[in-house]
Amino acid sequence: MLILMQQTATQADIERVLATVVELGFQARPIPGEQRMAIGVVGNDRQIDGSRLEALPGVREIIHVSAPYKLVSREWKKSDTEIRLFNGTVVGGKGIVVMGGPCSVESEEQIMEAAAFVAAMGGAVLRGGAYKPRSSPYSFQGMGEEGLKILARAREKYGLAIITEAIDGESADRVADYADIIQIGARNMQNFALLRHVGKLDKPVLLKRGISATIKELLLAAEYILSEGNEKVILCERGIRSFDDATRNVMDIAAIPILKQLSHLPVIADPSHGTGLRNKVIPMSRAAVAAGADGLIVEMHPHPEKALSDGMQSLYPEQFGELVREVGKIAAVLDRSVLSISSRGIREILEG
Ligand code: PEP
Ligand code: MN
Repeated sequence: MLILMQQTATQADIERVLATVVELGFQARPIPGEQRMAIGVVGNDRQIDGSRLEALPGVREIIHVSAPYKLVSREWKKSDTEIRLFNGTVVGGKGIVVMGGPCSVESEEQIMEAAAFVAAMGGAVLRGGAYKPRSSPYSFQGMGEEGLKILARAREKYGLAIITEAIDGESADRVADYADIIQIGARNMQNFALLRHVGKLDKPVLLKRGISATIKELLLAAEYILSEGNEKVILCERGIRSFDDATRNVMDIAAIPILKQLSHLPVIADPSHGTGLRNKVIPMSRAAVAAGADGLIVEMHPHPEKALSDGMQSLYPEQFGELVREVGKIAAVLDRSVLSISSRGIREILEG
């Protein structure tokens, strides 16, 4: 439920409404607006009898939020949520944000090389996993904190924001120390303790759709994070499991406009995990942006054949440049453009 206050409502009116909400056994969340104050009511699945609230002085209107998720819904907040990163990049605004980099952090040399390409070719965010949730316990598990330190040095050198995955509360705290966006992977989308944990941190979170999760489940997972106070959540379509093995996952392009309609949160797409096929990453990137995605997260490796994970789906650096150029043309049709941090050439950047 959302309580809209009158423009003329006094502080005392607002406080009376807040106290009444608590008295009724719910939590009140003040949402200051330019014109007037709104108060969100959450905290219980049971129906709220709005009549007592409606009758209070200063209350203009009561809006019932019909969706099971509240804070993430468009009914709750009409305007798009914009998330600003340290380098000026805004996720969820008019610009398209391209995040690129290897699946895993493997060495300083690999990350510095990847970062130089991402920066020079129009990316704004560097990706790379330091904590890897691998299907097999015998696969490469990531470099841990050492990997985060390498990412932080690349951030320093190239001005790219950093996104990297957390797999539990402890790694989330470490990631928050070094990176700009905490990634919650598909396998952890319903790790509710982890969602609550990152909900208490003051860091943007990228929440990937679970391998077999419905759109509603993804939004409810995001609700866990917002319900703890962290409103900086980016949703990510990364493909779901289905019967067809022609691609690694089935990338659900329709999820993009559906999520944009149901929620005010930014939505990005991951065509690398969405297809698992290097030569399908560019066409699906174009499709995602055409469908309204606010950005892309793409795997790119300076030497994909040597990658310790996901080499088959990792772009070659020059393909990353091609992707940004092509996506830029699609974005222009929608009166948008790709946000980049650098207009310098790759040679200039590589030569320092
Ligand atoms: C990744 O980004 O490398 C990753 C493991 O993604 P997902 O959680 O979508 O499988
Ligand atoms: Mn990967």
